[in-house]
Amino acid sequence: MRPLKAGIVGGSLAGLFSAILLQMDGHDVTVYERSARGLAGRGAGLVGQRDLFRVLRAIGCEHVARIGVVAKERIYFDANGDVSERLATPQTQISWDYLYSTVASKLHLQTYIVDNAVTRVEEQDEYASLTFSDGRTESFDLVLGADGLASIVRGAVNEETTNRFAGYVAWRGLIPEGDLPPGASILLDRFAFYVTRGIHVLGYLVPGPKGEMEPGSRRYNWVWYRPVSMAGLPDVFTGKSGKVYEYSLPRGELSSDRRGALVEDAKTVLPPPFALAIEAEPFSFIQGIFDYQSTRLVSKHVALIGDAAFVVRPHTAMGVAKAAGDALALRAAIARYENLQGALAEYERERLPVGNEIALYGQRLGASAL
Ligand SMILES: Cc1cc2nc3c(=O)[nH]c(=O)nc-3n(C[C@H](O)[C@H](O)[C@H](O)COP(=O)(O)OP(=O)(O)OC[C@H]3O[C@@H](n4cnc5c(N)ncnc54)[C@H](O)[C@@H]3O)c2cc1C
Repeated sequence: MRPLKAGIVGGSLAGLFSAILLQMDGHDVTVYERSARGLAGRGAGLVGQRDLFRVLRAIGCEHVARIGVVAKERIYFDANGDVSERLATPQTQISWDYLYSTVASKLHLQTYIVDNAVTRVEEQDEYASLTFSDGRTESFDLVLGADGLASIVRGAVNEETTNRFAGYVAWRGLIPEGDLPPGASILLDRFAFYVTRGIHVLGYLVPGPKGEMEPGSRRYNWVWYRPVSMAGLPDVFTGKSGKVYEYSLPRGELSSDRRGALVEDAKTVLPPPFALAIEAEPFSFIQGIFDYQSTRLVSKHVALIGDAAFVVRPHTAMGVAKAAGDALALRAAIARYENLQGALAEYERERLPVGNEIALYGQRLGASAL
């Protein structure tokens, strides 16, 4: 296909993977990211999967997959804090931050434009156009919606764009491993779980923010899934600043009263090592669990990738791998076809069933998680 002028909305992993692959094939690609300073330093860890390794190989970043912390086994606690089950299933957690910054370094710097929120997407017969928060407008042969859960590009492709609340949220913490008190040391070097009726908590080590793997420089990541009614959600997402967030409560917005209540709840219902890990995090944050499944992935000049296309539950650990698979499929389809519409139709044929399958798998895991 002739070189395309492409505008990608969203500069997280789906946007970066697609941009690099399309630039490698000679297309003129620019990524527009709304955050002012990029996303470095804001992620935790993820489990590598086949499509992530494939994309890393394709863009010359395969070494990132080796920067990980190995959890040598899975352990399950009982209510007393004793280990009731051990499974020898070693697993490696890669650093999200290291992955993001290494992948971002492969993109031509002048084509990653931060502090550029897209406010409108419009499509004509010959092109699609983006309008930015400063009022300017630009036209493209191809617009990619890599704008995640709260995608505005979705609306150019799907009639239904609303994320469905799954009925629970994930309280989260990410602390330097040295902040874990001795009573929680059993949590180190293993994937730990406590799962009982209405309670699901887990934790694991991830590398340090720059990919550090040495003991002492890693971070402990815990996640406590807790049910919340739809009516209760606005309260859960109200920050100490008074701002009500739509999908999460960011780090730094939890009031000290609510933090105190979290710590007390943890002491009451969780095994002691997890209660200690939760107490060690001064700035817990909350991620709402939502579902979204696209009915269409493409229109004439617009395609959706990553979380903009399908929001999959964190239990799958497949959000990043799915974004990688989307980017690879889109690149292959564009390389194979002479015309854009043929390529986009092929991309949709291939990735719509995959996205649905992962989304439904996550919903099944979620139903058994609480
Ligand atoms: C800061 C951050 C940290 C993360 N940490 C982890 C982690 O540790 N482990 C893990 O498994 N997953 C993590 N994720 C989620 C993971 O990246 C996704 O599940 C998966 O990679 C698919 O991502 P995505 O690129 O489709 O969407 P997202 O990662 O959600 O990114 C969407 C991007 O679009 C930008 N955006 C949204 N709207 C607009 C707009 N109107 N104009 C311009 N830009 C816009 C957002 O700022 C964001 O950068 C993180 C995501 C983010 C953003």
